[in-house]
Amino acid sequence: MSVRIWRDGEESRAICPTCKRRTNVVFRRRSVESSAPVVTVPNVLVAVCRECDGVAMIPQQSSARLRRGIERPKEVVNVRLPGHLSDVLTLLADRWAAGARSGNAAVMRLLLHRFGNDTAFARRVQEHLADDPLAEGAADLDLSVRIPSHVMVAVDDMAELVGIDTRADVVRGVLVTAKEDVLDEHDPALVEAMGRALSAVA
Ligand SMILES: [Zn+2]
Repeated sequence: MSVRIWRDGEESRAICPTCKRRTNVVFRRRSVESSAPVVTVPNVLVAVCRECDGVAMIPQQSSARLRRGIERPKEVVNVRLPGHLSDVLTLLADRWAAGARSGNAAVMRLLLHRFGNDTAFARRVQEHLADDPLAEGAADLDLSVRIPSHVMVAVDDMAELVGIDTRADVVRGVLVTAKEDVLDEHDPALVEAMGRALSAVA
């Protein structure tokens, strides 16, 4: 059996899960979000519903690109942190990803992804950096985590937008903010979302 290869712009029909019936679709490239791990894969060929503009289906030929996108190239982010913030990271990881070898990295990835995609969260991070004593302290512990490159692109853009100068400051800030949201349970929705995401990662 041969794999059907669709061309960009080609038209067909498919069952649209949003419209709940067979509709006309056109194959186009879109960014596709995966929730576990939290990743956006660009330029995936999908069948777009002509009626609701939603993704009606993802053809077989896109599976390798999606898989590679999800496993995609990470960059190593090296920062130095105050010891107490390293403890906060470990507390966060322990709470959700107990037993996972990559717990700290998984938490860091999730927090940086949120920072890059949620302006309100990023502004709170900036405020914590400006006036939360927990964000201060001599940076004497090394943190080295592998983060998908596209996440870091979003992080760098957001940092510029909200006025944070360095990645080390972003990391400090997201940890202090997550400490409030998660360890102090200031934001139950985040607590729950992280629990779900991290159990999937673990
Ligand atoms: Zn539809």
